[in-house]
Amino acid sequence: MDRRTILKSLALLGAAAVIPFRKLAAFPSYSKRPYHQFKLGELELMVLADGHINLSPVQPNFPNGTEKAEKELLQKSFRSTDAVDLGMNILLVKKENDFILIDTGTGSGFGPSSGWLLQSMEDAGIKPENITHIIISHAHPDHIGGLVKAEKSVFPAATIHLSRIEHAFWMAAKQDFSKSKFQDKDLLAKFTAITQQTFKLLQSQLHLFEDKAEILGCIRMELAPGHTPGHCVTHIYSGSDQLVHIADLVHSDVLLFPHPEWGFNGDTDIELATKTRRRVMKALADSRTKAIGYHLPWPGLGHVRTNGNEFEWVAETYAFPA
Ligand SMILES: [Zn+2]
Repeated sequence: MDRRTILKSLALLGAAAVIPFRKLAAFPSYSKRPYHQFKLGELELMVLADGHINLSPVQPNFPNGTEKAEKELLQKSFRSTDAVDLGMNILLVKKENDFILIDTGTGSGFGPSSGWLLQSMEDAGIKPENITHIIISHAHPDHIGGLVKAEKSVFPAATIHLSRIEHAFWMAAKQDFSKSKFQDKDLLAKFTAITQQTFKLLQSQLHLFEDKAEILGCIRMELAPGHTPGHCVTHIYSGSDQLVHIADLVHSDVLLFPHPEWGFNGDTDIELATKTRRRVMKALADSRTKAIGYHLPWPGLGHVRTNGNEFEWVAETYAFPA
């Protein structure tokens, strides 16, 4: 009797379980960070992971909503009611020889669960010196933290584009946080000092832009103030194809699309941020334009649609990993 016949006979006898199988090794740990690649007209794009920041408890982060209403909505959407986990999706646009990064992650400022950008880039075969342009959506530490390491520019070959309004706000002697619900004023002062140091150090690389500025014939900046005074969304286009990078317009797909008015703790002007959030969501829903959110669930791509009086995020899905 050959081995196959023996196995077959044993299986028929219900004795297959006695055959010593090789013990399963543990699942492999990540050897490479994942990235998501796609095309927009002639442009090549890639989303890289910088990690995540866990916001817990939920309600204080969305301060104009009640704990009860927020929990109900999270539960209804099969999400944790204990925390909102913010991803950090870094978009890289390649146009011919230009590599354009939109925001740079946390750097080392938020612990080991974020600050992965350089590793993610290395795993995707991209070196820091390949980056020719960086667009800063706004100057919060989870967006500019990756610009500087050990008091040196991480991307020495890059022109760093920043809204003139945003630069002026952070570089002023005093910032007006009176319309924000952020309570920890000491932490705000610390963040402001780090932001000022970063921009002073990178002064020779900075390029300040005005509203509606065009960059490299494939990008148009649009002021979307409230989260910060100079917060911008980035229109990326090639031919008739368009993608809008909405940066920090929305920090929770489940909570803020139906309820833009619940606001975000980190908004510098929470009322203006709500107005802007509604305006941009409506424009995206009306035009059916694809969007990417910096903090939305990986890789952050999707569309906005209306559902009665509310907005809704429809995340893009994929037939296979790409
Ligand atoms: Zn952010």
